[in-house]
Amino acid sequence: MIITITDIPVEGKEVEFGLDVSSLNQRINAIADVAEEGSVPPPEYRFAEPPKVELKIELQGSTVMIKGRASGTFFAACSRCAEDLETSLSTSIDVALKPRRGDMGSVEEAEDINFGYYIGNEINCADLIEEQLIIQLPQTVTCSAKSIEECPLAGAKIKACLQNEGQGGTDERMALFRNLKVN
Ligand SMILES: [Zn+2]
Repeated sequence: MIITITDIPVEGKEVEFGLDVSSLNQRINAIADVAEEGSVPPPEYRFAEPPKVELKIELQGSTVMIKGRASGTFFAACSRCAEDLETSLSTSIDVALKPRRGDMGSVEEAEDINFGYYIGNEINCADLIEEQLIIQLPQTVTCSAKSIEECPLAGAKIKACLQNEGQGGTDERMALFRNLKVN
């Protein structure tokens, strides 16, 4: 979704589009790949459906004001039971983009995710919203169960493993579950 700045009417321009899932996922994983060694890597996030974006774009002088909302659902492993969880994410967008000239503005502005710069006469809205959405991804996701035993998915798996054990299974990998209490 490329917006040509000189095409933005006085009353503003409303746009709706979906983000490209493969581009978004690739970008998320690229961040995970450069995570510092020794630090806990962020969970692997996967968007399956294109997140929906609704924006109103207005010009205030040479500053482009972008407001709206981006929402979608992503999959990530529960930090506790490792089940694949689908989590919804919705974030409001409120960004001001200034033309990039010689000076880069103040440090505060550079660090503020609500400020940015554009070069030339075009803005890549998809690129901008991808960035905004990635920033909002939680550090960890956890299922609603209070404990791993209460997690219906993990609980069922543990039960299945225990049953397997009862039927004479001697898989060493299951040793962990032998002393685990399940209701
Ligand atoms: Zn869980």
